[in-house]
Amino acid sequence: MAATFRNSYADRSYNCRCCGQAAVFTALEQKHAFEVNKTHIHKQRFLCEPCWRAEHAVQEKLAAMAARWAQNQRELRGDLDFLGGWRALLSEHERYGARPDQARQAMLDKLIQALGAPGQA
Ligand SMILES: [Zn+2]
Repeated sequence: MAATFRNSYADRSYNCRCCGQAAVFTALEQKHAFEVNKTHIHKQRFLCEPCWRAEHAVQEKLAAMAARWAQNQRELRGDLDFLGGWRALLSEHERYGARPDQARQAMLDKLIQALGAPGQA
């Protein structure tokens, strides 16, 4: 039975893990995801379309911040706007069901605290 799975996509309904909205991962979208974008076949969709897009945008921002950090850590250590923004973005990412990046969150909390920011958690 499993032998034909690649050619037999079926609409799959689910509830968005973020907003709870009922959504459908259509057969056509699955075909596109798995055959055009080469998404891993076991990758399920957990978010509705708007949440997925929003999550994707957050992910891109996080990647950009991590890249900035990697290049300019010494200076950014003292940049409360950057640190606070990054920390808030990590929390936002979790709302979409992303696994929390606890090590990074702890690091940021510590840096923010060291800069004496009130009430950032
Ligand atoms: Zn949603």
